[in-house]
Amino acid sequence: MLLLGAHMSTAGGLHTAFERGDALGCTAIQIFTSSPRQWRGRDLSQRDVEAFRAAWEASSCRECFAHDIYLTRLGTRDPAILGRSRTAFAHEIRTCQRLGLSALVMHPVGDVDADERAVLDRVAASLDAVFEAVPDEGTLVLLETTAGQGANVGYRFEQLARIIERVEQSDRLGICLDTCHVFAAGYDISTEAGWKSMMTELTKTVGLERIRAVHLNDSQKPCGSRVDRHEHIGRGRIGEAAFRRVMRDRRLKGVPKVLETPKENDMDAVNLALLRKLAKAK
Ligand SMILES: [Zn+2]
Repeated sequence: MLLLGAHMSTAGGLHTAFERGDALGCTAIQIFTSSPRQWRGRDLSQRDVEAFRAAWEASSCRECFAHDIYLTRLGTRDPAILGRSRTAFAHEIRTCQRLGLSALVMHPVGDVDADERAVLDRVAASLDAVFEAVPDEGTLVLLETTAGQGANVGYRFEQLARIIERVEQSDRLGICLDTCHVFAAGYDISTEAGWKSMMTELTKTVGLERIRAVHLNDSQKPCGSRVDRHEHIGRGRIGEAAFRRVMRDRRLKGVPKVLETPKENDMDAVNLALLRKLAKAK
């Protein structure tokens, strides 16, 4: 089964994401469990959790995972923000576990102009601390490939591999591959040769089995720009032919794929229709 969908709004309650996903024929969705620009995570009642699980049960969405808030910086050298990030991230994992989500996607972030190795090691130390505090209940943490904008690390696969290597409970970690981010970071997946070599790089560094989610976004900005601007599928610098390769790559067959493209004018429906068409054999 093709696991395909989009990031869904939860306005009106977390459980409402499934109605929106069903309306678009999604089989996989991503949500925020709380407002991404606020530190304060949601404290779900048992009723919220039950409503969520019942809506999921009744829905055609097979996969549901969460994206972490934007404020978390598990690799910062600022002790106050680091402490806050760890507390918020631990809370977020617990929330995902209560909801039964398969994964929580996060960006490895430190400080602008910081020594990147030190940032990677601090991210790993933060994950150790959080995993120590929150026992494993099956929700994976997915390190997202970033565009390398601002204080983001993880724009080279070697950086993600370094984090994974250093985390004690590394079986709780996976990777979320974002097509826009890898392209902006300098992996030219707009060509067939570029896609092949990126997949080879992934295999050699983190390993393909770590890829547990894909974010399907075209890019407004050119390859290597390190600027993260999502564009509708086939309308950016990556192009439609590249998404045909992504959708038909057998190595990513069972991996859930979600859009994070702008929502105006019913564009989710347009993007999803195109992706379904591209996924079908010629
Ligand atoms: Zn993404």
